[in-house]
Amino acid sequence: MERTIEENVYLWDREVKVPQDASFISKEEDGKIRVPDNPIIPFIEGDGIGCEIAPAMITVVNRAVERAYGGSRRILWVELLAGDKAEEKTGERLPQETLDFLKEAIVGIKGPLGTPVGKGVKSINSALRRAFDFYSAVRPVYWMGQPTPIPDPQRVDVVVFRENTDDVYAGIEFFSGSEEAEKVRRFLIKEMGAKESGFPGDVGITVKPMSEFKTKRHVRKALRYALETGRKNVAVIGKGNIMKATEGAFINWAFEVAQEPEFEGKVITDQEAEPGEGQVKLTKVITDQMLMQLVLRPEAWDVIIAQNLNGDYVSDLAAALIGGPGFVPSGNIGDGYALFESTHGTAWDIAGKGIANPLSLTLSGAMMLEYLGWKEASEKIYSAVRRSLEDRIGTPDIASGFRKMGMDAKELSTMEYAREIARRIE
Ligand code: NAD
Repeated sequence: MERTIEENVYLWDREVKVPQDASFISKEEDGKIRVPDNPIIPFIEGDGIGCEIAPAMITVVNRAVERAYGGSRRILWVELLAGDKAEEKTGERLPQETLDFLKEAIVGIKGPLGTPVGKGVKSINSALRRAFDFYSAVRPVYWMGQPTPIPDPQRVDVVVFRENTDDVYAGIEFFSGSEEAEKVRRFLIKEMGAKESGFPGDVGITVKPMSEFKTKRHVRKALRYALETGRKNVAVIGKGNIMKATEGAFINWAFEVAQEPEFEGKVITDQEAEPGEGQVKLTKVITDQMLMQLVLRPEAWDVIIAQNLNGDYVSDLAAALIGGPGFVPSGNIGDGYALFESTHGTAWDIAGKGIANPLSLTLSGAMMLEYLGWKEASEKIYSAVRRSLEDRIGTPDIASGFRKMGMDAKELSTMEYAREIARRIE
């Protein structure tokens, strides 16, 4: 497999190296970030195909920054270890050194990290989320010209804000037949008025916590984003009709946030009104309705605010409409701290072959540039990726998709494709 290491990349070698000719991004009191012209950006390659797509992403992002700012701005990339590579080099899957550096750097990017099944190994992705309180997972889903399962994918342009810290993921589970499940069942029947018919002796129970504080900070982030980016139609989803104390409350809290002074006159909730200049409209949509609408009239929605579990379903469905998670970027965002990442997994079945599609991580790199406020550079990546797809070049998954649609396509390796995208950056 071919790798290119550009001269502004500091690879890990027994420890993290801190470049002297660059500075850290800083965080202001209001949570906003201040970005120097030579920021230090840490990256974690990730497991499986990570070591193939990370250099590809860096090649494209470097080129875009260079072309957009002619050398007056430059990223200094610093490799941090996590996952298999970290275990091999340091004996730990998530070294403290990685966490400390990320804390200092504030913004970073990562490839996929595997969670070995059944070995008692905790998910590093969850550990990172917890360590930095990345409470919103943000997934913009838009079409760039790739093969898709639907005939008019240009209608999909939606940003899913998935709450990242609450819901069943933060809950506790009691397995059917366990002493704990029986204890909880008895408590619910005896003390909480639950009906025995709903809780027979063989039930398993999952607890689904949802907090007002966590919901409201997430909703504020999504509404601010919609207002800043001029996206008009915002839906808050949930099965509030069934789970009133959790998803129903989530929806109510979202509407309470819309009434806060910060959003006065900017977030409208009158369903008969149309949002004007500088306004967004907040609408409540039942989750199953939203899943249907995304297929039938995806153009109706610009931003979807979701709980953790619903956000998982909705973002995957939206991603499928435009060709799959291989084309979708994502960002885990907290108060200032942000870690961008590819949405697919480690793809062990193709690792080492040099054929992995680098777009999800590359577009995550573009999303990171937007977060830094370097829009000129991110725009260059979007148009170069579009152009590459118009020219019908790409990794085997892309090329075979075009062929299935009866079109010719040129198949390239991961790095060749990245270079072709970089070459199209003007
Ligand atoms: P996966 O995404 O790794 O693979 C599913 C299928 O998609 C495979 O056939 C794979 O070859 C293909 N694929 C995925 N990415 C591709 C790419 N960039 N180019 C071409 N083909 C690609 O999903 P999985 O097999 O369910 O998960 C494997 C591991 O990844 C698991 O350990 C899982 O926990 C982890 N994972 C990590 C993240 C993350 O770090 N955010 C996300 C999802 C899964």
